[in-house]
Amino acid sequence: MLYDTIVIGGSIAGLLAAREVARKGFSVLVLEEDAEIGTPEHCGGLVSRNALKALGIDEYTILTRIKHATVSVLNTTISIDAERQDVVAIDRRALDKYVAKQASMNGADIMLMCRARSFAVKDEQVKVDTGRGIMECRVLVDARGCSIPASSGKGFLPSAQYEVDHAPWVDAGRVEVYIDQDRYPGFFAWIIPSGKGRGRVGVSGKGINAMERLEGFIGMKEMLRDCSSNGDDGSDDGNSSGGRCVVLRKVFAPIWVDGPQRPFIRERRVVRVGDAAGQAKPTTGGGIYTSGMGGVIAGSAIADALEYNSLDMLHRYESGWFDLFGREFERMVMLRRVFESLDNKAIERILLAIRSEMDEISVSGDFDFHSFTMAKMLLSRDGLSIVKAMLGSEFRRFLANLAKI
Ligand SMILES: Cc1cc2nc3c(=O)[nH]c(=O)nc-3n(C[C@H](O)[C@H](O)[C@H](O)COP(=O)(O)OP(=O)(O)OC[C@H]3O[C@@H](n4cnc5c(N)ncnc54)[C@H](O)[C@@H]3O)c2cc1C
Repeated sequence: MLYDTIVIGGSIAGLLAAREVARKGFSVLVLEEDAEIGTPEHCGGLVSRNALKALGIDEYTILTRIKHATVSVLNTTISIDAERQDVVAIDRRALDKYVAKQASMNGADIMLMCRARSFAVKDEQVKVDTGRGIMECRVLVDARGCSIPASSGKGFLPSAQYEVDHAPWVDAGRVEVYIDQDRYPGFFAWIIPSGKGRGRVGVSGKGINAMERLEGFIGMKEMLRDCSSNGDDGSDDGNSSGGRCVVLRKVFAPIWVDGPQRPFIRERRVVRVGDAAGQAKPTTGGGIYTSGMGGVIAGSAIADALEYNSLDMLHRYESGWFDLFGREFERMVMLRRVFESLDNKAIERILLAIRSEMDEISVSGDFDFHSFTMAKMLLSRDGLSIVKAMLGSEFRRFLANLAKI
Protein backbone atom coordinates (compact mmCIF):
# COMPACT_ATOMS: atom_id res chain seq x y z
CA MET A 1 0.00 0.00 0.00
CA LEU A 2 1.18 3.52 -0.78
CA TYR A 3 0.74 5.77 2.27
CA ASP A 4 0.54 9.54 2.01
CA THR A 5 2.98 9.73 4.92
CA ILE A 6 5.14 7.27 6.84
CA VAL A 7 6.58 8.41 10.16
CA ILE A 8 9.68 6.64 11.49
CA GLY A 9 9.67 6.97 15.31
CA GLY A 10 6.59 6.78 17.53
CA SER A 11 7.57 9.28 20.22
CA ILE A 12 6.35 12.82 20.88
CA ALA A 13 7.53 14.53 17.66
CA GLY A 14 6.63 11.71 15.27
CA LEU A 15 3.24 11.07 16.85
CA LEU A 16 2.27 14.75 16.80
CA ALA A 17 3.26 14.96 13.12
CA ALA A 18 1.17 11.82 12.46
CA ARG A 19 -1.79 13.30 14.33
CA GLU A 20 -1.71 16.51 12.26
CA VAL A 21 -1.42 14.76 8.87
CA ALA A 22 -4.11 12.20 9.71
CA ARG A 23 -6.41 14.96 11.00
CA LYS A 24 -6.72 16.22 7.40
CA GLY A 25 -7.79 12.79 6.17
CA PHE A 26 -4.47 11.57 4.70
CA SER A 27 -3.23 8.02 5.23
CA VAL A 28 -0.43 7.78 7.81
CA LEU A 29 1.65 4.88 9.10
CA VAL A 30 3.88 5.24 12.19
CA LEU A 31 6.74 2.75 12.52
CA GLU A 32 8.09 2.27 16.04
CA GLU A 33 10.91 -0.15 16.72
CA ASP A 34 10.06 -0.69 20.39
CA ALA A 35 7.28 -2.90 21.70
CA GLU A 36 5.45 -0.17 23.61
CA ILE A 37 4.82 3.54 22.95
CA GLY A 38 6.63 5.70 25.53
CA THR A 39 8.96 2.88 26.59
CA PRO A 40 11.82 2.99 27.35
CA GLU A 41 11.17 6.42 28.83
CA HIS A 42 14.24 8.62 28.51
CA CYS A 43 12.89 11.85 29.93
CA GLY A 44 12.54 13.73 33.22
CA GLY A 45 8.98 14.70 32.29
CA LEU A 46 9.47 18.36 33.18
CA VAL A 47 7.24 20.62 31.10
CA SER A 48 5.04 23.70 31.40
CA ARG A 49 1.29 23.37 31.15
CA ASN A 50 1.31 26.16 28.52
CA ALA A 51 3.57 24.01 26.37
CA LEU A 52 1.21 21.03 26.62
CA LYS A 53 -1.67 23.29 25.63
CA ALA A 54 0.27 24.60 22.61
CA LEU A 55 0.94 20.99 21.57
CA GLY A 56 -2.80 20.27 21.68
CA ILE A 57 -2.44 17.78 24.54
CA ASP A 58 -5.34 18.15 26.93
CA GLU A 59 -4.94 14.95 28.93
CA TYR A 60 -1.84 14.12 30.96
CA THR A 61 -0.88 12.75 34.34
CA ILE A 62 0.74 15.28 36.65
CA LEU A 63 3.08 13.57 39.10
CA THR A 64 3.92 16.75 40.97
CA ARG A 65 3.75 20.54 40.58
CA ILE A 66 7.01 22.45 40.73
CA LYS A 67 6.98 25.28 43.25
CA HIS A 68 10.60 26.27 43.12
CA ALA A 69 13.93 25.48 41.56
CA THR A 70 17.36 25.73 43.11
CA VAL A 71 20.68 26.15 41.32
CA SER A 72 23.84 25.31 43.29
CA VAL A 73 27.52 25.69 42.62
CA LEU A 74 30.32 25.32 45.18
CA ASN A 75 28.90 26.79 48.41
CA THR A 76 26.21 28.93 46.85
CA THR A 77 22.57 28.11 46.14
CA ILE A 78 19.96 30.38 44.63
CA SER A 79 16.27 29.64 44.76
CA ILE A 80 13.80 30.60 42.05
CA ASP A 81 10.09 30.78 42.75
CA ALA A 82 8.58 28.71 39.93
CA GLU A 83 4.94 28.87 40.95
CA ARG A 84 3.96 31.37 38.23
CA GLN A 85 5.55 29.37 35.46
CA ASP A 86 3.09 26.52 35.95
CA VAL A 87 5.67 23.79 35.48
CA VAL A 88 4.83 20.18 36.22
CA ALA A 89 6.52 16.80 36.21
CA ILE A 90 4.37 14.49 34.13
CA ASP A 91 4.23 10.80 33.37
CA ARG A 92 6.02 10.90 30.01
CA ARG A 93 5.05 7.34 29.05
CA ALA A 94 1.39 8.16 29.51
CA LEU A 95 1.84 11.40 27.56
CA ASP A 96 3.24 9.62 24.50
CA LYS A 97 0.48 7.00 24.74
CA TYR A 98 -2.17 9.73 24.81
CA VAL A 99 -0.71 11.38 21.68
CA ALA A 100 -0.63 7.93 20.03
CA LYS A 101 -4.33 7.67 20.84
CA GLN A 102 -4.99 11.10 19.33
CA ALA A 103 -3.11 10.12 16.15
CA SER A 104 -4.90 6.82 15.87
CA MET A 105 -8.34 8.35 16.49
CA ASN A 106 -7.58 10.65 13.54
CA GLY A 107 -6.93 7.55 11.43
CA ALA A 108 -3.15 6.94 11.70
CA ASP A 109 -1.94 3.32 11.80
CA ILE A 110 0.77 2.56 14.34
CA MET A 111 2.99 -0.47 13.86
CA LEU A 112 5.05 -1.49 16.90
CA MET A 113 8.21 -3.59 16.81
CA CYS A 114 8.82 -2.46 13.28
CA ARG A 115 12.25 -1.00 12.70
CA ALA A 116 12.96 1.06 9.60
CA ARG A 117 16.32 -0.23 8.38
CA SER A 118 16.81 2.34 5.62
CA PHE A 119 14.89 4.46 3.17
CA ALA A 120 15.44 5.83 -0.33
CA VAL A 121 13.71 8.49 -2.41
CA LYS A 122 12.84 7.14 -5.83
CA ASP A 123 10.82 9.09 -8.39
CA GLU A 124 7.71 10.40 -6.65
CA GLN A 125 7.96 8.10 -3.63
CA VAL A 126 10.01 7.12 -0.60
CA LYS A 127 10.63 3.41 -0.13
CA VAL A 128 11.20 2.34 3.47
CA ASP A 129 12.93 -0.97 4.09
CA THR A 130 11.55 -2.52 7.30
CA GLY A 131 11.77 -5.90 8.99
CA ARG A 132 8.29 -6.50 7.54
CA GLY A 133 9.05 -5.65 3.94
CA ILE A 134 9.23 -2.52 1.80
CA MET A 135 6.67 0.20 2.54
CA GLU A 136 6.03 3.25 0.38
CA CYS A 137 4.87 6.81 0.92
CA ARG A 138 4.72 10.23 -0.72
CA VAL A 139 6.29 12.09 2.22
CA LEU A 140 8.52 10.55 4.89
CA VAL A 141 8.85 11.94 8.42
CA ASP A 142 12.14 11.05 10.10
CA ALA A 143 11.50 11.28 13.87
CA ARG A 144 14.14 8.81 15.07
CA GLY A 145 15.43 11.07 17.85
CA CYS A 146 18.84 12.48 18.56
CA SER A 147 20.75 9.42 17.39
CA ILE A 148 20.36 10.93 13.90
CA PRO A 149 22.30 14.20 14.36
CA ALA A 150 24.51 12.50 16.99
CA SER A 151 25.69 9.99 14.38
CA SER A 152 28.06 12.75 13.22
CA GLY A 153 29.96 12.05 16.47
CA LYS A 154 29.58 15.52 18.02
CA GLY A 155 26.96 17.94 19.39
CA PHE A 156 25.66 15.62 22.09
CA LEU A 157 26.49 14.76 25.68
CA PRO A 158 26.21 11.38 27.38
CA SER A 159 23.63 11.28 30.16
CA ALA A 160 22.43 8.90 32.85
CA GLN A 161 19.14 9.19 34.70
CA TYR A 162 17.79 6.95 37.45
CA GLU A 163 14.25 6.85 38.75
CA VAL A 164 14.50 6.62 42.54
CA ASP A 165 12.10 6.01 45.38
CA HIS A 166 12.52 6.16 49.17
CA ALA A 167 14.88 9.08 48.73
CA PRO A 168 14.07 11.62 51.45
CA TRP A 169 16.45 14.10 49.80
CA VAL A 170 13.97 14.50 46.92
CA ASP A 171 11.59 17.33 47.72
CA ALA A 172 8.19 16.91 45.99
CA GLY A 173 7.93 20.53 44.80
CA ARG A 174 11.53 21.39 44.00
CA VAL A 175 13.69 20.89 40.94
CA GLU A 176 17.38 20.96 41.82
CA VAL A 177 20.30 21.75 39.52
CA TYR A 178 23.91 21.20 40.61
CA ILE A 179 26.59 22.82 38.50
CA ASP A 180 30.12 21.48 38.76
CA GLN A 181 32.32 22.07 35.72
CA ASP A 182 34.83 19.46 36.95
CA ARG A 183 32.35 16.65 37.45
CA TYR A 184 29.73 17.54 34.79
CA PRO A 185 31.58 19.75 32.27
CA GLY A 186 29.17 21.83 30.20
CA PHE A 187 26.05 20.50 31.88
CA PHE A 188 24.89 19.64 35.40
CA ALA A 189 23.33 17.12 37.75
CA TRP A 190 19.58 17.37 38.30
CA ILE A 191 16.76 16.15 40.52
CA ILE A 192 13.25 16.26 39.07
CA PRO A 193 10.74 15.15 41.69
CA SER A 194 7.76 12.98 40.87
CA GLY A 195 6.44 12.94 44.44
CA LYS A 196 7.65 12.96 48.01
CA GLY A 197 10.95 11.08 48.15
CA ARG A 198 10.54 9.99 44.51
CA GLY A 199 11.94 11.37 41.29
CA ARG A 200 14.38 11.28 38.40
CA VAL A 201 17.98 11.99 39.22
CA GLY A 202 20.43 12.50 36.41
CA VAL A 203 23.76 13.85 35.22
CA SER A 204 25.21 14.81 31.89
CA GLY A 205 28.51 16.35 30.82
CA LYS A 206 31.16 16.41 28.13
CA GLY A 207 33.24 13.25 27.92
CA ILE A 208 32.16 11.84 31.29
CA ASN A 209 31.29 8.32 32.34
CA ALA A 210 27.70 9.35 33.14
CA MET A 211 26.82 6.23 35.13
CA GLU A 212 29.86 6.57 37.38
CA ARG A 213 29.21 10.29 38.00
CA LEU A 214 25.53 9.67 38.72
CA GLU A 215 26.29 6.94 41.23
CA GLY A 216 28.74 9.34 42.88
CA PHE A 217 26.07 12.05 43.01
CA ILE A 218 23.46 9.74 44.54
CA GLY A 219 26.07 8.40 47.00
CA MET A 220 26.82 11.95 48.10
CA LYS A 221 23.11 12.71 48.61
CA GLU A 222 22.69 9.55 50.68
CA MET A 223 25.76 10.38 52.74
CA LEU A 224 24.48 13.88 53.48
CA ARG A 225 21.15 12.36 54.47
CA ASP A 226 22.96 9.95 56.85
CA CYS A 227 24.91 12.83 58.38
CA SER A 228 21.80 14.94 58.93
CA SER A 229 19.85 12.02 60.46
CA ASN A 230 22.80 11.19 62.75
CA GLY A 231 22.77 14.81 63.80
CA ASP A 232 19.11 14.01 64.59
CA ASP A 233 16.99 17.10 64.60
CA GLY A 234 14.04 15.03 65.79
CA SER A 235 12.16 15.33 62.50
CA ASP A 236 10.85 12.27 60.72
CA ASP A 237 9.74 12.60 57.13
CA GLY A 238 8.34 9.10 57.06
CA ASN A 239 11.05 7.89 54.68
CA SER A 240 14.10 7.88 56.86
CA SER A 241 14.08 4.18 57.59
CA GLY A 242 17.86 4.09 57.45
CA GLY A 243 17.88 2.10 54.17
CA ARG A 244 19.27 3.23 50.83
CA CYS A 245 17.07 4.77 48.19
CA VAL A 246 15.68 2.30 45.69
CA VAL A 247 16.62 2.63 42.03
CA LEU A 248 13.60 1.62 39.94
CA ARG A 249 14.84 2.37 36.44
CA LYS A 250 18.09 3.32 34.75
CA VAL A 251 18.32 5.23 31.50
CA PHE A 252 21.44 6.05 29.49
CA ALA A 253 20.84 8.28 26.50
CA PRO A 254 22.56 11.07 24.60
CA ILE A 255 21.31 14.65 25.00
CA TRP A 256 21.53 16.87 21.92
CA VAL A 257 22.85 20.36 22.77
CA ASP A 258 24.04 21.78 19.46
CA GLY A 259 20.81 23.39 18.27
CA PRO A 260 18.75 22.86 15.10
CA GLN A 261 20.36 20.98 12.23
CA ARG A 262 19.30 22.43 8.90
CA PRO A 263 17.90 21.63 6.45
CA PHE A 264 14.81 20.09 8.02
CA ILE A 265 13.63 19.00 4.56
CA ARG A 266 15.91 16.66 2.63
CA GLU A 267 15.61 15.23 -0.85
CA ARG A 268 12.38 17.22 -1.30
CA ARG A 269 10.15 14.74 0.54
CA VAL A 270 12.00 13.63 3.68
CA VAL A 271 11.07 15.76 6.71
CA ARG A 272 13.14 15.61 9.91
CA VAL A 273 11.32 16.49 13.12
CA GLY A 274 12.08 16.66 16.85
CA ASP A 275 15.44 15.62 18.22
CA ALA A 276 16.26 14.13 14.80
CA ALA A 277 16.37 17.75 13.58
CA GLY A 278 18.25 18.95 16.70
CA GLN A 279 15.21 20.68 18.20
CA ALA A 280 16.01 20.05 21.91
CA LYS A 281 17.08 23.10 23.95
CA PRO A 282 20.87 23.56 23.99
CA THR A 283 20.74 24.90 27.56
CA THR A 284 18.78 22.17 29.34
CA GLY A 285 18.26 19.40 26.77
CA GLY A 286 14.48 19.79 27.21
CA GLY A 287 12.57 18.85 24.08
CA ILE A 288 8.96 17.96 24.86
CA TYR A 289 7.83 21.43 23.76
CA THR A 290 10.35 22.45 21.09
CA SER A 291 10.67 19.01 19.46
CA GLY A 292 6.93 18.43 19.90
CA MET A 293 6.18 21.72 18.11
CA GLY A 294 8.48 20.50 15.34
CA GLY A 295 6.05 17.60 14.90
CA VAL A 296 2.95 19.83 15.01
CA ILE A 297 4.26 22.42 12.53
CA ALA A 298 5.69 19.76 10.19
CA GLY A 299 2.44 17.76 10.26
CA SER A 300 0.38 20.74 9.27
CA ALA A 301 2.80 21.72 6.45
CA ILE A 302 2.78 18.12 5.14
CA ALA A 303 -1.03 18.06 5.10
CA ASP A 304 -1.04 21.31 3.06
CA ALA A 305 1.63 20.00 0.70
CA LEU A 306 -0.39 16.82 0.12
CA GLU A 307 -3.65 18.70 -0.32
CA TYR A 308 -2.23 21.15 -2.88
CA ASN A 309 0.15 18.60 -4.39
CA SER A 310 3.03 21.01 -3.86
CA LEU A 311 6.17 19.78 -2.11
CA ASP A 312 7.42 23.37 -1.95
CA MET A 313 4.83 23.94 0.78
CA LEU A 314 6.89 21.65 3.06
CA HIS A 315 9.30 24.57 3.53
CA ARG A 316 6.63 26.34 5.55
CA TYR A 317 7.57 23.90 8.32
CA GLU A 318 11.18 25.05 8.52
CA SER A 319 10.27 28.74 8.38
CA GLY A 320 7.39 28.24 10.86
CA TRP A 321 9.64 26.51 13.40
CA PHE A 322 12.35 29.18 13.04
CA ASP A 323 9.78 31.99 13.36
CA LEU A 324 8.78 30.52 16.70
CA PHE A 325 12.12 29.35 18.06
CA GLY A 326 14.95 30.68 15.83
CA ARG A 327 16.01 33.64 17.96
CA GLU A 328 15.55 31.68 21.19
CA PHE A 329 17.81 28.85 19.99
CA GLU A 330 20.42 31.27 18.67
CA ARG A 331 20.66 32.79 22.14
CA MET A 332 20.65 29.40 23.86
CA VAL A 333 23.57 28.23 21.71
CA MET A 334 25.48 31.38 22.72
CA LEU A 335 24.58 30.97 26.39
CA ARG A 336 25.88 27.42 26.21
CA ARG A 337 29.20 28.65 24.81
CA VAL A 338 29.45 31.23 27.59
CA PHE A 339 28.57 28.62 30.20
CA GLU A 340 31.14 26.14 28.88
CA SER A 341 33.90 28.71 29.20
CA LEU A 342 33.19 29.62 32.84
CA ASP A 343 34.69 27.77 35.79
CA ASN A 344 32.90 27.03 39.07
CA LYS A 345 34.25 30.12 40.78
CA ALA A 346 33.08 32.45 38.00
CA ILE A 347 29.62 30.84 37.98
CA GLU A 348 29.44 31.17 41.76
CA ARG A 349 30.28 34.88 41.51
CA ILE A 350 27.48 35.34 38.97
CA LEU A 351 24.98 33.52 41.19
CA LEU A 352 26.01 35.67 44.14
CA ALA A 353 25.64 38.79 41.99
CA ILE A 354 22.09 37.98 40.92
CA ARG A 355 20.83 36.73 44.26
CA SER A 356 19.18 40.05 45.06
CA GLU A 357 17.31 40.01 41.71
CA MET A 358 15.72 36.61 42.23
CA ASP A 359 12.25 38.01 42.92
CA GLU A 360 12.17 39.81 39.60
CA ILE A 361 13.50 36.74 37.77
CA SER A 362 10.81 34.57 39.36
CA VAL A 363 8.09 36.93 38.18
CA SER A 364 9.34 37.70 34.67
CA GLY A 365 10.88 34.31 33.79
CA ASP A 366 9.36 32.12 31.11
CA PHE A 367 10.14 28.39 31.35
CA ASP A 368 9.62 27.79 27.63
CA PHE A 369 11.56 30.82 26.40
CA HIS A 370 14.14 31.17 29.15
CA SER A 371 17.15 32.44 27.21
CA PHE A 372 16.32 36.11 27.77
CA THR A 373 16.05 35.65 31.54
CA MET A 374 19.32 33.71 31.56
CA ALA A 375 21.01 36.40 29.51
CA LYS A 376 19.72 39.07 31.90
CA MET A 377 21.20 37.12 34.80
CA LEU A 378 24.58 37.09 33.08
CA LEU A 379 24.36 40.79 32.38
CA SER A 380 23.77 41.83 35.96
CA ARG A 381 26.45 44.30 37.10
CA ASP A 382 28.96 41.78 38.47
CA GLY A 383 28.04 39.06 36.02
CA LEU A 384 28.81 41.44 33.17
CA SER A 385 32.36 42.13 34.25
CA ILE A 386 33.09 38.44 34.81
CA VAL A 387 31.74 37.32 31.46
CA LYS A 388 33.32 40.23 29.60
CA ALA A 389 36.75 39.46 30.98
CA MET A 390 36.45 35.81 30.00
CA LEU A 391 34.95 36.01 26.57
CA GLY A 392 36.39 38.94 24.64
CA SER A 393 35.02 38.99 21.08
CA GLU A 394 32.53 36.20 21.70
CA PHE A 395 31.00 38.48 24.30
CA ARG A 396 30.52 41.30 21.76
CA ARG A 397 28.62 38.93 19.45
CA PHE A 398 26.49 37.88 22.40
CA LEU A 399 25.62 41.51 23.21
CA ALA A 400 24.84 42.26 19.56
CA ASN A 401 22.44 39.31 19.50
CA LEU A 402 20.70 40.51 22.63
CA ALA A 403 20.32 43.98 21.19
CA LYS A 404 18.21 42.50 18.36
CA ILE A 405 15.39 41.66 20.81
C1 LIG B 1 17.83 11.78 30.41
C2 LIG B 1 16.92 12.72 29.67
C3 LIG B 1 16.01 13.50 30.37
C4 LIG B 1 15.18 14.39 29.69
N1 LIG B 1 14.29 15.15 30.41
C5 LIG B 1 13.48 16.01 29.77
C6 LIG B 1 12.54 16.79 30.49
O1 LIG B 1 12.45 16.71 31.72
N2 LIG B 1 11.74 17.65 29.79
C7 LIG B 1 11.82 17.77 28.42
O2 LIG B 1 11.09 18.60 27.84
N3 LIG B 1 12.68 17.03 27.71
C8 LIG B 1 13.51 16.15 28.34
N4 LIG B 1 14.37 15.37 27.62
C9 LIG B 1 14.38 15.50 26.15
C10 LIG B 1 13.18 14.78 25.51
O3 LIG B 1 13.04 13.49 26.06
C11 LIG B 1 13.37 14.70 23.99
O4 LIG B 1 13.67 15.98 23.51
C12 LIG B 1 12.12 14.17 23.28
O5 LIG B 1 11.78 12.89 23.72
C13 LIG B 1 12.38 14.13 21.78
O6 LIG B 1 11.30 13.52 21.17
P1 LIG B 1 11.46 12.90 19.70
O7 LIG B 1 10.11 12.37 19.33
O8 LIG B 1 12.10 13.87 18.80
O9 LIG B 1 12.52 11.71 19.83
P2 LIG B 1 12.61 10.47 20.85
O10 LIG B 1 11.77 10.70 22.05
O11 LIG B 1 14.05 10.20 21.05
O12 LIG B 1 11.94 9.27 20.03
C14 LIG B 1 12.52 8.67 18.91
C15 LIG B 1 11.67 7.42 18.62
O13 LIG B 1 12.10 6.82 17.41
C16 LIG B 1 12.15 5.41 17.59
N5 LIG B 1 13.09 4.91 16.57
C17 LIG B 1 14.41 5.23 16.45
N6 LIG B 1 14.95 4.63 15.37
C18 LIG B 1 13.94 3.92 14.79
C19 LIG B 1 13.87 3.10 13.63
N7 LIG B 1 14.93 2.89 12.84
N8 LIG B 1 12.68 2.53 13.32
C20 LIG B 1 11.57 2.73 14.10
N9 LIG B 1 11.59 3.49 15.22
C21 LIG B 1 12.76 4.09 15.54
C22 LIG B 1 12.62 5.24 19.01
O14 LIG B 1 12.33 3.96 19.52
C23 LIG B 1 11.82 6.34 19.71
O15 LIG B 1 10.55 5.91 20.10
C24 LIG B 1 15.23 14.48 28.27
C25 LIG B 1 16.14 13.68 27.55
C26 LIG B 1 16.98 12.81 28.24
C27 LIG B 1 17.93 11.94 27.46
